[in-house]
Amino acid sequence: MKLKILSSIVFFLVLESLYSQNVNIYSDFPTGNILIEKIKNDSIWVRPDLRDTEGDWFYWCFAVDNAKGKTLSFLLPNLNKLTAKGPAVSYDSGYTWEWLFPDTLSFRSESFQFSFESNKEVRFSMGMPYSQSRFQTFIEKYSSNPSLSLDTLTLTEENRPIEKVIIRPKNKAEYKVLITARHHACEMMANYVIEGMIDEILMNKKLGSNIEYCFIPFIDIDGVENGDQGKNRLPRDHNRDYSGEAVYNSTIKLKEWFPEWSQNMTTICIDIHCPWIRGDGNEHIYLPGSQFSEMAEEQSKFSRHLTQTNSGELKVSNNLIYPFGYGWNTHQNNSKGFSFSKWVSTFEHVKLGTSIEFPYGVNVKQTITQQNASNFGRDFIKAVNEYLYNE
Ligand SMILES: [Zn+2]
Repeated sequence: MKLKILSSIVFFLVLESLYSQNVNIYSDFPTGNILIEKIKNDSIWVRPDLRDTEGDWFYWCFAVDNAKGKTLSFLLPNLNKLTAKGPAVSYDSGYTWEWLFPDTLSFRSESFQFSFESNKEVRFSMGMPYSQSRFQTFIEKYSSNPSLSLDTLTLTEENRPIEKVIIRPKNKAEYKVLITARHHACEMMANYVIEGMIDEILMNKKLGSNIEYCFIPFIDIDGVENGDQGKNRLPRDHNRDYSGEAVYNSTIKLKEWFPEWSQNMTTICIDIHCPWIRGDGNEHIYLPGSQFSEMAEEQSKFSRHLTQTNSGELKVSNNLIYPFGYGWNTHQNNSKGFSFSKWVSTFEHVKLGTSIEFPYGVNVKQTITQQNASNFGRDFIKAVNEYLYNE
Protein backbone atom coordinates (compact mmCIF):
# COMPACT_ATOMS: atom_id res chain seq x y z
CA MET A 1 0.00 0.00 0.00
CA LYS A 2 1.25 3.41 -0.92
CA LEU A 3 0.57 6.03 1.70
CA LYS A 4 1.47 9.62 1.11
CA ILE A 5 1.24 11.28 4.47
CA LEU A 6 3.36 14.32 5.03
CA SER A 7 1.35 15.52 8.02
CA SER A 8 3.35 13.98 10.83
CA ILE A 9 3.52 10.83 12.76
CA VAL A 10 1.78 7.70 11.67
CA PHE A 11 1.06 5.73 14.80
CA PHE A 12 0.15 2.25 13.72
CA LEU A 13 -0.27 0.96 10.25
CA VAL A 14 -1.87 -2.40 9.97
CA LEU A 15 -2.00 -3.05 6.28
CA GLU A 16 -4.47 -5.70 5.43
CA SER A 17 -7.08 -5.74 2.70
CA LEU A 18 -6.30 -2.24 1.43
CA TYR A 19 -2.84 -3.47 0.57
CA SER A 20 -3.73 -5.22 -2.63
CA GLN A 21 -5.57 -2.27 -4.13
CA ASN A 22 -3.03 0.51 -3.49
CA VAL A 23 -5.65 2.83 -2.03
CA ASN A 24 -4.05 6.22 -1.38
CA ILE A 25 -4.95 8.37 1.60
CA TYR A 26 -3.11 11.67 1.69
CA SER A 27 -3.14 15.26 2.84
CA ASP A 28 -0.13 16.76 1.04
CA PHE A 29 -2.08 19.53 -0.68
CA PRO A 30 -3.02 23.06 0.45
CA THR A 31 -5.52 22.88 3.35
CA GLY A 32 -4.76 19.16 3.94
CA ASN A 33 -4.64 17.89 7.52
CA ILE A 34 -4.88 14.33 8.82
CA LEU A 35 -3.13 11.82 11.03
CA ILE A 36 -3.78 8.17 10.29
CA GLU A 37 -3.67 6.11 13.44
CA LYS A 38 -4.62 2.67 12.26
CA ILE A 39 -5.91 0.77 9.25
CA LYS A 40 -7.64 -2.55 9.63
CA ASN A 41 -9.53 -4.20 6.79
CA ASP A 42 -11.65 -1.41 5.32
CA SER A 43 -11.66 0.72 8.47
CA ILE A 44 -9.35 3.69 8.84
CA TRP A 45 -8.85 5.46 12.16
CA VAL A 46 -7.99 9.11 11.58
CA ARG A 47 -7.75 12.24 13.66
CA PRO A 48 -6.97 15.96 13.22
CA ASP A 49 -3.33 16.97 13.34
CA LEU A 50 -3.36 19.53 16.16
CA ARG A 51 0.31 20.58 15.70
CA ASP A 52 0.81 23.78 17.71
CA THR A 53 -2.76 24.00 19.02
CA GLU A 54 -3.39 24.41 22.73
CA GLY A 55 -6.03 21.83 23.67
CA ASP A 56 -8.30 20.01 21.25
CA TRP A 57 -9.88 21.28 18.02
CA PHE A 58 -11.61 19.67 15.05
CA TYR A 59 -10.20 20.68 11.65
CA TRP A 60 -9.19 17.90 9.28
CA CYS A 61 -9.13 17.41 5.50
CA PHE A 62 -7.79 14.48 3.47
CA ALA A 63 -8.07 12.86 0.04
CA VAL A 64 -8.53 9.28 -1.10
CA ASP A 65 -7.93 7.87 -4.56
CA ASN A 66 -7.58 4.53 -6.29
CA ALA A 67 -10.43 3.10 -4.19
CA LYS A 68 -12.93 2.02 -6.87
CA GLY A 69 -15.44 -0.50 -5.57
CA LYS A 70 -14.39 -0.07 -1.96
CA THR A 71 -16.65 0.97 0.90
CA LEU A 72 -14.36 2.43 3.51
CA SER A 73 -15.19 3.43 7.08
CA PHE A 74 -13.44 6.46 8.54
CA LEU A 75 -13.37 6.57 12.33
CA LEU A 76 -12.69 9.80 14.19
CA PRO A 77 -11.67 10.08 17.84
CA ASN A 78 -14.96 11.45 19.19
CA LEU A 79 -18.39 12.90 18.35
CA ASN A 80 -17.08 16.43 17.93
CA LYS A 81 -15.15 15.99 14.72
CA LEU A 82 -18.16 16.01 12.36
CA THR A 83 -20.85 18.64 11.84
CA ALA A 84 -24.57 17.92 12.09
CA LYS A 85 -24.42 17.32 8.31
CA GLY A 86 -21.55 14.82 8.56
CA PRO A 87 -18.37 15.45 6.55
CA ALA A 88 -18.19 17.59 3.42
CA VAL A 89 -17.12 15.82 0.21
CA SER A 90 -15.44 17.20 -2.91
CA TYR A 91 -14.94 15.48 -6.27
CA ASP A 92 -13.01 18.32 -7.92
CA SER A 93 -9.90 18.78 -5.78
CA GLY A 94 -11.66 20.92 -3.19
CA TYR A 95 -13.32 23.50 -5.42
CA THR A 96 -16.93 22.49 -4.85
CA TRP A 97 -18.13 20.77 -1.70
CA GLU A 98 -21.32 19.11 -0.59
CA TRP A 99 -22.33 17.62 2.75
CA LEU A 100 -22.51 13.84 2.86
CA PHE A 101 -25.80 14.02 4.82
CA PRO A 102 -27.38 17.34 3.79
CA ASP A 103 -30.90 16.26 4.69
CA THR A 104 -30.15 14.66 8.04
CA LEU A 105 -31.26 16.96 10.82
CA SER A 106 -28.46 16.13 13.20
CA PHE A 107 -25.94 13.53 12.11
CA ARG A 108 -24.19 12.39 15.26
CA SER A 109 -21.50 9.80 14.95
CA GLU A 110 -17.79 9.28 15.40
CA SER A 111 -17.53 7.71 11.96
CA PHE A 112 -18.79 7.75 8.40
CA GLN A 113 -18.70 5.35 5.48
CA PHE A 114 -18.13 6.11 1.83
CA SER A 115 -18.50 3.90 -1.25
CA PHE A 116 -16.08 4.81 -4.02
CA GLU A 117 -17.48 4.51 -7.52
CA SER A 118 -14.26 5.29 -9.35
CA ASN A 119 -10.54 5.60 -8.77
CA LYS A 120 -10.70 9.39 -9.00
CA GLU A 121 -9.74 11.50 -6.01
CA VAL A 122 -12.41 12.25 -3.41
CA ARG A 123 -11.69 14.77 -0.66
CA PHE A 124 -13.28 14.77 2.77
CA SER A 125 -13.29 17.44 5.45
CA MET A 126 -15.20 18.61 8.51
CA GLY A 127 -16.07 21.77 6.53
CA MET A 128 -15.64 23.15 3.03
CA PRO A 129 -11.96 24.13 2.84
CA TYR A 130 -11.18 27.36 1.01
CA SER A 131 -7.61 27.94 -0.15
CA GLN A 132 -5.68 30.80 -1.71
CA SER A 133 -6.07 29.25 -5.17
CA ARG A 134 -9.86 29.31 -4.91
CA PHE A 135 -9.71 33.00 -4.05
CA GLN A 136 -7.43 33.63 -7.04
CA THR A 137 -9.95 31.94 -9.31
CA PHE A 138 -12.76 33.99 -7.80
CA ILE A 139 -11.06 37.38 -7.97
CA GLU A 140 -9.67 36.91 -11.48
CA LYS A 141 -13.11 37.50 -12.96
CA TYR A 142 -12.80 41.09 -11.76
CA SER A 143 -9.24 41.61 -12.97
CA SER A 144 -10.27 44.25 -15.50
CA ASN A 145 -12.59 46.08 -13.10
CA PRO A 146 -11.06 49.54 -12.62
CA SER A 147 -12.43 50.03 -9.10
CA LEU A 148 -10.75 46.89 -7.75
CA SER A 149 -7.06 46.56 -7.01
CA LEU A 150 -4.98 43.88 -5.37
CA ASP A 151 -2.24 44.75 -2.97
CA THR A 152 -0.14 43.03 -0.34
CA LEU A 153 -0.35 43.83 3.36
CA THR A 154 2.97 42.14 4.08
CA LEU A 155 4.77 38.82 3.73
CA THR A 156 4.20 36.07 6.24
CA GLU A 157 6.79 34.12 8.21
CA GLU A 158 6.73 31.57 5.35
CA ASN A 159 7.07 34.30 2.75
CA ARG A 160 3.53 34.23 1.43
CA PRO A 161 1.88 37.54 0.54
CA ILE A 162 -1.13 38.50 2.67
CA GLU A 163 -3.48 39.90 0.10
CA LYS A 164 -5.58 43.04 0.38
CA VAL A 165 -8.39 43.68 -2.05
CA ILE A 166 -9.25 47.36 -2.28
CA ILE A 167 -12.49 48.48 -3.93
CA ARG A 168 -12.56 52.22 -4.48
CA PRO A 169 -15.79 54.21 -4.81
CA LYS A 170 -16.87 56.28 -7.82
CA ASN A 171 -16.90 59.41 -5.72
CA LYS A 172 -14.61 60.65 -3.00
CA ALA A 173 -14.45 58.19 -0.13
CA GLU A 174 -16.27 59.30 2.98
CA TYR A 175 -16.47 55.92 4.67
CA LYS A 176 -14.09 53.00 4.99
CA VAL A 177 -15.10 49.39 5.45
CA LEU A 178 -12.52 46.75 6.40
CA ILE A 179 -13.47 43.07 6.22
CA THR A 180 -11.04 40.46 7.54
CA ALA A 181 -11.13 36.66 7.83
CA ARG A 182 -9.02 33.66 8.82
CA HIS A 183 -7.46 35.04 11.97
CA HIS A 184 -8.25 31.41 12.76
CA ALA A 185 -6.96 29.39 9.82
CA CYS A 186 -9.57 26.63 9.93
CA GLU A 187 -12.60 28.95 9.79
CA MET A 188 -13.07 28.66 6.05
CA MET A 189 -16.78 29.35 5.70
CA ALA A 190 -15.93 33.05 6.15
CA ASN A 191 -14.42 33.16 2.67
CA TYR A 192 -17.64 32.15 0.91
CA VAL A 193 -19.34 35.04 2.72
CA ILE A 194 -16.57 37.34 1.43
CA GLU A 195 -17.14 36.19 -2.17
CA GLY A 196 -20.77 37.30 -1.90
CA MET A 197 -19.76 40.62 -0.36
CA ILE A 198 -17.37 41.41 -3.20
CA ASP A 199 -19.91 40.30 -5.83
CA GLU A 200 -22.56 42.54 -4.30
CA ILE A 201 -20.29 45.60 -4.13
CA LEU A 202 -19.21 45.22 -7.74
CA MET A 203 -22.58 44.28 -9.21
CA ASN A 204 -25.17 46.29 -7.26
CA LYS A 205 -25.29 49.80 -8.71
CA LYS A 206 -27.58 51.02 -5.95
CA LEU A 207 -24.99 50.74 -3.22
CA GLY A 208 -23.39 53.84 -1.75
CA SER A 209 -20.83 55.59 -3.92
CA ASN A 210 -18.67 56.98 -1.10
CA ILE A 211 -17.42 53.80 0.51
CA GLU A 212 -13.92 52.42 0.11
CA TYR A 213 -13.71 48.74 1.01
CA CYS A 214 -10.70 46.69 1.93
CA PHE A 215 -10.83 42.92 2.22
CA ILE A 216 -8.06 40.87 3.82
CA PRO A 217 -9.37 37.36 3.16
CA PHE A 218 -6.54 35.39 4.80
CA ILE A 219 -4.90 36.96 7.86
CA ASP A 220 -3.17 33.64 8.67
CA ILE A 221 -2.50 32.49 5.09
CA ASP A 222 0.33 30.19 6.22
CA GLY A 223 -2.08 28.39 8.53
CA VAL A 224 -4.74 28.17 5.81
CA GLU A 225 -2.40 26.68 3.21
CA ASN A 226 -0.72 24.36 5.73
CA GLY A 227 -4.09 23.06 6.94
CA ASP A 228 -3.60 24.24 10.52
CA GLN A 229 -6.28 24.64 13.15
CA GLY A 230 -5.12 28.20 13.88
CA LYS A 231 -7.57 28.55 16.74
CA ASN A 232 -5.72 28.59 20.09
CA ARG A 233 -2.40 28.50 18.27
CA LEU A 234 0.75 28.56 20.40
CA PRO A 235 2.63 30.70 21.21
CA ARG A 236 -0.24 33.05 20.40
CA ASP A 237 -3.58 32.94 18.67
CA HIS A 238 -3.60 35.46 15.77
CA ASN A 239 -6.85 36.88 17.15
CA ARG A 240 -5.27 37.54 20.53
CA ASP A 241 -2.30 39.35 19.04
CA TYR A 242 -3.68 42.90 19.24
CA SER A 243 -2.41 43.89 22.67
CA GLY A 244 1.14 44.09 23.93
CA GLU A 245 3.79 43.35 21.37
CA ALA A 246 2.35 41.58 18.32
CA VAL A 247 4.24 38.43 17.33
CA TYR A 248 3.04 37.78 13.76
CA ASN A 249 4.05 39.70 10.63
CA SER A 250 0.36 40.03 9.71
CA THR A 251 -0.78 41.58 12.98
CA ILE A 252 2.32 43.78 13.34
CA LYS A 253 1.69 45.25 9.89
CA LEU A 254 -2.08 45.48 10.23
CA LYS A 255 -1.75 47.50 13.42
CA GLU A 256 0.58 49.90 11.63
CA TRP A 257 -1.38 50.08 8.37
CA PHE A 258 -4.94 50.44 9.68
CA PRO A 259 -4.71 54.00 11.09
CA GLU A 260 -2.92 55.18 7.91
CA TRP A 261 -5.55 53.66 5.67
CA SER A 262 -8.66 54.68 7.59
CA GLN A 263 -7.45 58.29 8.00
CA ASN A 264 -9.91 59.08 10.76
CA MET A 265 -12.85 58.59 8.40
CA THR A 266 -15.96 56.91 9.72
CA THR A 267 -14.96 53.25 9.53
CA ILE A 268 -16.60 49.87 9.91
CA CYS A 269 -14.50 46.79 10.69
CA ILE A 270 -15.96 43.30 10.42
CA ASP A 271 -13.90 40.22 11.28
CA ILE A 272 -15.55 36.99 10.10
CA HIS A 273 -15.17 33.82 12.16
CA CYS A 274 -16.78 30.41 12.49
CA PRO A 275 -17.93 29.13 15.87
CA TRP A 276 -17.40 25.67 17.33
CA ILE A 277 -18.22 22.72 15.09
CA ARG A 278 -21.79 21.88 16.11
CA GLY A 279 -24.55 22.02 18.71
CA ASP A 280 -26.57 24.65 20.54
CA GLY A 281 -25.10 28.09 20.29
CA ASN A 282 -22.99 27.18 17.26
CA GLU A 283 -25.65 26.63 14.63
CA HIS A 284 -26.80 30.16 13.96
CA ILE A 285 -25.20 33.35 12.65
CA TYR A 286 -24.40 35.82 15.42
CA LEU A 287 -22.34 38.80 16.49
CA PRO A 288 -20.50 38.38 19.80
CA GLY A 289 -21.69 41.43 21.79
CA SER A 290 -19.05 44.08 22.48
CA GLN A 291 -17.92 44.73 26.02
CA PHE A 292 -18.10 48.46 25.24
CA SER A 293 -21.69 49.62 25.72
CA GLU A 294 -21.56 52.23 22.91
CA MET A 295 -20.26 49.63 20.49
CA ALA A 296 -22.88 47.13 21.67
CA GLU A 297 -25.51 49.76 20.80
CA GLU A 298 -24.02 50.11 17.30
CA GLN A 299 -24.13 46.32 16.92
CA SER A 300 -27.84 46.45 17.76
CA LYS A 301 -28.47 49.16 15.17
CA PHE A 302 -26.54 47.23 12.55
CA SER A 303 -28.32 43.98 13.33
CA ARG A 304 -31.70 45.68 12.80
CA HIS A 305 -30.54 46.62 9.30
CA LEU A 306 -29.25 43.11 8.68
CA THR A 307 -32.63 41.69 9.62
CA GLN A 308 -34.17 44.00 7.00
CA THR A 309 -31.74 43.22 4.16
CA ASN A 310 -31.74 39.48 4.88
CA SER A 311 -33.51 38.34 1.71
CA GLY A 312 -31.28 35.32 0.93
CA GLU A 313 -31.89 31.71 1.86
CA LEU A 314 -30.01 31.78 5.16
CA LYS A 315 -32.08 33.67 7.70
CA VAL A 316 -30.65 35.40 10.74
CA SER A 317 -32.37 34.51 13.98
CA ASN A 318 -33.66 36.71 16.78
CA ASN A 319 -30.50 35.80 18.68
CA LEU A 320 -28.31 37.83 16.36
CA ILE A 321 -26.28 39.28 19.21
CA TYR A 322 -24.65 37.09 21.82
CA PRO A 323 -24.44 39.59 24.70
CA PHE A 324 -21.24 40.35 26.51
CA GLY A 325 -21.19 38.77 29.96
CA TYR A 326 -22.77 35.48 28.88
CA GLY A 327 -21.19 32.07 28.34
CA TRP A 328 -17.72 32.39 26.85
CA ASN A 329 -18.20 36.08 25.96
CA THR A 330 -16.68 37.59 29.12
CA HIS A 331 -13.50 39.39 30.17
CA GLN A 332 -11.96 35.94 30.60
CA ASN A 333 -12.05 35.63 26.80
CA ASN A 334 -9.59 38.55 26.57
CA SER A 335 -7.13 37.14 29.09
CA LYS A 336 -4.64 36.08 26.40
CA GLY A 337 -4.75 39.36 24.52
CA PHE A 338 -7.07 41.70 22.62
CA SER A 339 -8.95 40.39 19.62
CA PHE A 340 -8.98 42.34 16.36
CA SER A 341 -12.54 43.54 16.97
CA LYS A 342 -11.73 44.73 20.48
CA TRP A 343 -8.62 46.52 19.24
CA VAL A 344 -10.38 48.38 16.41
CA SER A 345 -13.18 49.33 18.80
CA THR A 346 -10.70 51.49 20.71
CA PHE A 347 -10.38 53.90 17.74
CA GLU A 348 -12.79 56.82 17.95
CA HIS A 349 -13.46 56.90 14.21
CA VAL A 350 -14.49 53.24 14.17
CA LYS A 351 -18.27 53.47 14.25
CA LEU A 352 -18.73 49.71 14.25
CA GLY A 353 -16.04 47.16 15.08
CA THR A 354 -17.31 43.63 15.44
CA SER A 355 -16.71 40.02 14.67
CA ILE A 356 -19.41 37.80 13.24
CA GLU A 357 -19.68 34.06 13.72
CA PHE A 358 -20.83 32.17 10.64
CA PRO A 359 -21.43 28.44 11.26
CA TYR A 360 -19.94 25.48 9.37
CA GLY A 361 -22.90 23.27 8.59
CA VAL A 362 -26.18 24.53 9.98
CA ASN A 363 -27.89 27.89 10.45
CA VAL A 364 -31.12 27.59 12.44
CA LYS A 365 -31.89 24.17 10.94
CA GLN A 366 -30.94 25.37 7.45
CA THR A 367 -28.18 23.49 5.65
CA ILE A 368 -25.29 25.78 4.77
CA THR A 369 -23.86 25.53 1.24
CA GLN A 370 -21.14 27.44 -0.57
CA GLN A 371 -23.82 29.28 -2.51
CA ASN A 372 -26.10 30.33 0.33
CA ALA A 373 -23.09 31.38 2.41
CA SER A 374 -22.03 33.62 -0.46
CA ASN A 375 -25.58 34.99 -0.76
CA PHE A 376 -25.52 35.82 2.92
CA GLY A 377 -22.46 37.99 2.21
CA ARG A 378 -24.58 39.94 -0.28
CA ASP A 379 -27.27 40.57 2.35
CA PHE A 380 -24.57 41.60 4.78
CA ILE A 381 -23.06 44.25 2.49
CA LYS A 382 -26.50 45.73 1.86
CA ALA A 383 -26.89 46.02 5.63
CA VAL A 384 -23.51 47.78 5.88
CA ASN A 385 -24.75 50.32 3.34
CA GLU A 386 -28.11 50.83 5.06
CA TYR A 387 -26.36 51.27 8.37
CA LEU A 388 -23.93 53.89 6.99
CA TYR A 389 -26.39 55.87 4.91
CA ASN A 390 -29.66 55.57 6.78
CA GLU A 391 -28.65 55.67 10.38
ZN1 LIG B 1 -12.42 32.43 15.09
